[in-house]
Amino acid sequence: MTNPVFLAENQLLSDLGKSLVTGSLSDERVLNQTNNEPPIKILPNANVLKIGGQSFMDRGRRAVFPLIEEIVENLGRHQMIIGTGGGTRARHAYSVGVDLGLPTGVLSVLGTFVSMQNARMIYYLLAQHGIPFIEPVQFGQMSHYLAERGAVIFFGMPPYTFWHENPSIGRIPPHRTDTGAYLVSEVFGTKSMIFIKDEEGLYTADPKKEPNAKFIKRISVGELRELDLQDVIVERSLMTFMENASNRRSIRVINGLQPGNLTRALNGQDIGTEIYAD
Ligand code: ADP
Ligand code: MG
Repeated sequence: MTNPVFLAENQLLSDLGKSLVTGSLSDERVLNQTNNEPPIKILPNANVLKIGGQSFMDRGRRAVFPLIEEIVENLGRHQMIIGTGGGTRARHAYSVGVDLGLPTGVLSVLGTFVSMQNARMIYYLLAQHGIPFIEPVQFGQMSHYLAERGAVIFFGMPPYTFWHENPSIGRIPPHRTDTGAYLVSEVFGTKSMIFIKDEEGLYTADPKKEPNAKFIKRISVGELRELDLQDVIVERSLMTFMENASNRRSIRVINGLQPGNLTRALNGQDIGTEIYAD
């Protein structure tokens, strides 16, 4: 049955429009039609960088200052949307929060504020270059800042906060700063997603615990799942997101402690590990 109000003759309604307005939003046939055209790339010239919390920020000036220098060198050459991890302070907040009986949604709030601390620190180090720190409510101005100043800084946590789903195991929010940064890249259709950490990329095991671990140059999400590694270098939930991605179907993990690596990654060189959706 069609609704005469919505289907008035002068109204611009495609076949899809008619199905969506009058059909059921849980009808798979209707839903399938919404993907006939790929979504647009909103910021195709921007790159999302995520600066690791524990793996990078917590190392202090020895790690962070050279990276800041490299970011400044790339201003004007590459647009950068810079997200931050939470690191050791977030883990500590989670441990106290769990001890106090706080639910996942509240732990997600705590993690957000810790990753915001790190974003603020990066902001103060880049402030003299006119790079703003922005919260999700200011993302509408991101394009302007990128055009004017070439970079923005945000906290990596996806702003699910209280609305964060419970994980299948335990209580720690599974969607943290790797996932948050990744989703910015996916939604805005950016040129790249670069994770800046303290290892060359993905290994067959955590190289800090397993010195014989082998480096993996390139791997698909499916292969990675089959390997069933005990530990990986990025959040697992990110890989699930990658499988349904429209824009961001590959990510790169680089060792930011090695000067020049960020520049190579921004220039599109094959550095670190590439993980891609099949
Ligand atoms: P971040 O600080 O960016 O959130 P994490 O500390 O959560 O990063 O994860 C990065 C760390 O993951 C690396 O420092 C590395 O020691 C560890 N790691 C665990 N498993 C692997 C693996 N299979 N390959 C490489 N690194 C791994
Ligand atoms: Mg992490």
